[in-house]
Amino acid sequence: DEIRRKDVKVGDWVVVHKAGDVIPEIVKVIKERRDGSQQEFRMPGKCPVCGSDVIKPEGEVALRCTSMACPAQQYERIVHFASKGAMDIEGLGPAIVEKFLDKKLIKDSADIYYLKYDDVFSLENFKEKSTKNLLGAIEESKKKPLSRLLFAMGIRYVGSHTAVVLTRVFTDLDSLMHARYEEIEEIKEIGPKIAESIISFFNH
Ligand SMILES: [Zn+2]
Repeated sequence: DEIRRKDVKVGDWVVVHKAGDVIPEIVKVIKERRDGSQQEFRMPGKCPVCGSDVIKPEGEVALRCTSMACPAQQYERIVHFASKGAMDIEGLGPAIVEKFLDKKLIKDSADIYYLKYDDVFSLENFKEKSTKNLLGAIEESKKKPLSRLLFAMGIRYVGSHTAVVLTRVFTDLDSLMHARYEEIEEIKEIGPKIAESIISFFNH
């Protein structure tokens, strides 16, 4: 809708305003610079990475790929898992996650904990010290509280605050995994949307 409203085409020159810290906002299109090669943008009907169908959840702007096995989503999930607000694994940034995935040494976040010395050492630019440091950081992350792990798992609508609220009632992961919808939904601050999301996450 925003793209239509501002009449942005693929290949356009645009004026950008840095609204927040990260996401630049397009102020306007410089139409004088159009040379006829600009193309109408179309929302993809399939995920550009894995080819699965995409859906637009009610009330949301973005399209989502429906495949749980989508490589692009797996990458994002692992990057989020290791990030600062989550499991905070120092040295496991996006570039390293990508290398592990490329070499098929990990497929999901849990695989991080099965990495061996030789797996890490086999990565480009990894020497003895950096290998030990990364394995140490991975080991250290196991001491993080359950709320961090819950947040790190990337369950939709479970932000860091909601994760803390949940762990006041469910003190171990197992009890949350096997909880009934009603048990989750009746917690103060937890609505039906969050409860549904948790149930569907653990049933996949
Ligand atoms: Zn996909």
